[in-house]
Amino acid sequence: RASAQRPEEVIQRYMEVVAGVPDEDCIICMDQLSNPSGYETPSTEEGGQSILPDTVGKFIKCGHTLHMLCMLAMYNNGTKDGSLQCPSCKTIYGEKTGTQPKGKMEIYSIAQSLPGHPDCGTIQIIYSIPPGLQGPEHPNPGQPYTCRGFPRFCFLPDNDKGRKVLELLKVAWMRRLIFTVGTSSTTGEPDTVVWNGIHHKTEMMSNLSGHGYPDPNYLDNVLSELASQGVTEDCFKP
Ligand code: NAD
Ligand code: ZN
Ligand code: ZN
Repeated sequence: RASAQRPEEVIQRYMEVVAGVPDEDCIICMDQLSNPSGYETPSTEEGGQSILPDTVGKFIKCGHTLHMLCMLAMYNNGTKDGSLQCPSCKTIYGEKTGTQPKGKMEIYSIAQSLPGHPDCGTIQIIYSIPPGLQGPEHPNPGQPYTCRGFPRFCFLPDNDKGRKVLELLKVAWMRRLIFTVGTSSTTGEPDTVVWNGIHHKTEMMSNLSGHGYPDPNYLDNVLSELASQGVTEDCFKP
């Protein structure tokens, strides 16, 4: 699903060239912006506009400045999905995607209420991911990954805020952000499918694990975790 666009174009879409160089350091290479980036300009195909080592760029929304070549190097080190994240303030430009393996997300409705949400029913999400082989985006390409505890059952209150979280989780799922392949911090097992920083409630009727109900802050917390991956209500605006 990675975009076919040139890395230079991605940088130039979200950063503009700064004429008067500010008396600041580049947050990537830590050198002064008035000194050139240590990275070399990659050779570009015909017609492509290249980025020079002394070019300083400014992010169009957050306004943070850094060497454009340093940002290009950081982009080329990542998943190259056409999105950028400002290394200063973490603002996301474009659609960040992750490395979640193939699987399915199903949604059901349960009449029973969750502790702490007595006035509504419950949304149940079931994530199913079968074992497979790691792709180039994973830590050990070509090696298998395991899937522990699948299908995973998750719960949300079926109220306005819970339904909003559900819609954003659907976006996060399509962008492959809910799970990743890595080492489980609970079991220490490597090359396995693990949660990826967007917390889910996997326990319905108690909170003995810390991953259940009641938890009055849960919906706000998960909304900010989604936002830190670039998944917000803006995703539904045309
Ligand atoms: P992990 O241990 O690497 O932790 C990643 C994140 O997931 C952390 O933020 C952690 O707080 C959170 N997390 C840990 N346990 C969780 C749980 N039970 N429910 C919701 N979030 C949890 O992630 P992981 O290896 O993907 O999951 C942790 C363990 O939980 C695994 O051993 C997994 O098998 C087990 N689990 C089992 C089920 C099940 O239905 N049997 C469901 C979910 C998780
Ligand atoms: Zn730099
Ligand atoms: Zn920024």
